[in-house]
Amino acid sequence: ARKAALAASTGPGATSDGHKVPLLANVGGPSDVPAAVEAGAEGVGLFRTEFLFLDDSKQAPSQEKQAEAYRKVLEAFPEGRVVVRVLDAGADKPLDFLTPGDEPNPALGVRGLRTLLDHPEVLRTQLAALAQAAEGLPVYLEVMAPMVADRTDAKAFADACREAGLQAKFGAMVEIPSAALRARSILQEVEFLSLGTNDLAQYTFAADRQVGAVSRLQDPWQPALLDLVALSAESAKAEGKSCGVCGEAASDPLLACVLTGLGVTSLSMGAASIPYVRATLAKHTLAQCERAASAARAADTAEDARAAAQAVLSGE
Ligand code: PEP
Ligand code: MG
Repeated sequence: ARKAALAASTGPGATSDGHKVPLLANVGGPSDVPAAVEAGAEGVGLFRTEFLFLDDSKQAPSQEKQAEAYRKVLEAFPEGRVVVRVLDAGADKPLDFLTPGDEPNPALGVRGLRTLLDHPEVLRTQLAALAQAAEGLPVYLEVMAPMVADRTDAKAFADACREAGLQAKFGAMVEIPSAALRARSILQEVEFLSLGTNDLAQYTFAADRQVGAVSRLQDPWQPALLDLVALSAESAKAEGKSCGVCGEAASDPLLACVLTGLGVTSLSMGAASIPYVRATLAKHTLAQCERAASAARAADTAEDARAAAQAVLSGE
């Protein structure tokens, strides 16, 4: 019965009353594309481009090599959306030739956009490769930066995209609490937000995502994290812009309903989760999702937040 229910779950993501929530896939490269297409992803919400940089420990891949890989992903979603994240090196994703090896706290050091602003030639080559890959394709390209802390970061990234002549929307990931708190200011520089809930949890709770002993604080049901999601989504709405989620939080079907209720406009996840999220979302109205979101935010612990949302959504 479960299999039949999932098979029946096709088409665009939406609540039972027709509020659309595009369901997108997280991919790490062209080899992840078939599973995303198979799952009926409406596009890619997070293309992690780090994989391309792992082959050579001394230098970045050439523009040609990058363009070839980007084009394979873009071609798979004609007319669809593809959100490419520029290189997120450092911390849990160190690269020998870019990441300083002597930082006492790599997660708080030079990583993500900070690395690219220190190595502008790497960012320039990547953006040029993206422009080359998208040329002549009908795809709707969006490019976003990881680890944006403030408006200055957002402006530096948008300027780099403009200088590269990129025909795309430019966005900022919200992974640092400062970015959520000042989302409206960041949105003066970029056209969309995407919440990276894995890092946002890490930085909100001062809990290293690689340390199992503090995993309780990495739980995406933590009400403080939900508050920052809500603030980001409300800020985007006030600016007439979109705010998606591309962290692990989006792959939990119940939490996906809560995120929708908080005002998130798209959900991106590993392809395998898409049918489950689609089926659960389709069982609830937007108003129910909003009630579940309020109930979750009123809780004091992750466990209670989940139970409260579950109670609302199962009609108790
Ligand atoms: C995140 O931090 O939630 C995210 C999507 O990026 P990554 O997991 O690649 O750091
Ligand atoms: Mg991240």
